[in-house]
Amino acid sequence: MTMQMRLFNTLTSRVEPLEPISPPEIRMYACGLTVYNRGHVGNYRTIVTTDVLRRALRYLGFRVKGVLNITDVDDRIIQQAVTADQDLQGFTRPWIEALEEDMTTLGIERPEFMPRATEHLPEMIDLIARLTARGHTYEADGSIYFRIASFPEYGRLSGLDVKGIKAGARVDTDKYDKENARDFVLWKFKSDEPEWAQWDAPFGRGRPGWHIECSAMSMKYLGQTFDLHIGGEDLIFPHHENEIAQSSGATGEPFVRHWMHVKHLLIDDETMSKSKGNFFTIPDILERGHSPDSIRYLLAGSHYRKPLSFGFEGLEQSVAALERIWGLVQRLDETQGDGPEGEARKACTDAETTFREALADDLNTPEALAAVHGLVSRANALLAEGELTRSGAGAVRSTLKGMDSVFGVLLPKEAADQLSAEEQALFDERQEARRQREFARADEARARLEAMGIVLEDTRGATRWRRRR
Ligand SMILES: [Zn+2]
Repeated sequence: MTMQMRLFNTLTSRVEPLEPISPPEIRMYACGLTVYNRGHVGNYRTIVTTDVLRRALRYLGFRVKGVLNITDVDDRIIQQAVTADQDLQGFTRPWIEALEEDMTTLGIERPEFMPRATEHLPEMIDLIARLTARGHTYEADGSIYFRIASFPEYGRLSGLDVKGIKAGARVDTDKYDKENARDFVLWKFKSDEPEWAQWDAPFGRGRPGWHIECSAMSMKYLGQTFDLHIGGEDLIFPHHENEIAQSSGATGEPFVRHWMHVKHLLIDDETMSKSKGNFFTIPDILERGHSPDSIRYLLAGSHYRKPLSFGFEGLEQSVAALERIWGLVQRLDETQGDGPEGEARKACTDAETTFREALADDLNTPEALAAVHGLVSRANALLAEGELTRSGAGAVRSTLKGMDSVFGVLLPKEAADQLSAEEQALFDERQEARRQREFARADEARARLEAMGIVLEDTRGATRWRRRR
């Protein structure tokens, strides 16, 4: 049974039902990272929110087809690769690995697709050719630009008034010979940039602009019109506005029905910046002794439409909240009494109802977690009164397990301490490959286990594994 999900839609400025084109499947695209350095905790607010939304949608009965893209070519990447005397792949590889490692650390599920821009040049070139055929482009200054005057809906998402911007008008700092200051680059023709940042195209060798990457990759995997597009609020303008113009401009069809934007993350009420010394990556926070679970709990437990002030005090409070839940789960194992589920049944049903309704109401994760803690309190009270039977404890445990399918941190580590059949098969495969000295095959199995959050340690004669938390 599918429950309705209501989400704030930036396009209409209202909380609206999410109505999928092909129910019960939701096709959603999230703008991922530009891999020129390690993502910071603010980036992970958006990625964790996307993860919690995917899981919540499944909890409510939907299926999810999701894309998280990797921007592995843009101005900053090219500049920094040149400075480091590396090519594009060589420069971006460690940052892509860092992204995958941070996702594993934070318990973020791999979406169905994680496409890289450099692997989608044909799709981008095709899109630009279609835009040109429909009169949306022009050439100037060695680039192909999108002409926003050709797309009357431009500005609808961000509420920007483009009518006030006349063709030929300039902003002072604009040094390009564009028709309009807001026209944006689709393709930059061959320049003095390195050969590894240039691709052949029927309209001339060069490289894509940033915005076209997301239009090409989202439509390739999700179709020309899809259900939901997510990103940080800083992407509303111009990135998402440009994505709409490029996509609808090329297809003549609506691009995305529902736009979801995640608010900024602040560090102790201040914007994060390297100069203020409050710029944190996930490993920075772990180095200070905080746990991945507390980071995920803090990121997941604040409402995505409110700015989150992330601080180390908040992480301490998260640990306390988690330990309260984990402590109950452990005590559930120690219950003895026989008999029906009794009061525990009602506590579970009430908590489940509140939990579902909170998630369905614009992904209200603080309310959903309040329902979790409400159940923990009632179960603790029943335990204290000697009123919790073994079957009652089982009901509480299975309710918490269902809730954990959304948050991913509610059960204590020991509860998951067994390899799944798929993980065991990979583990065995690697051991077998090592025995046969097929090291490439062994490394591949290890990499796949790593991606699933299983860390291997080879000691003399034996291989141990542990789950990264
Ligand atoms: Zn994007």
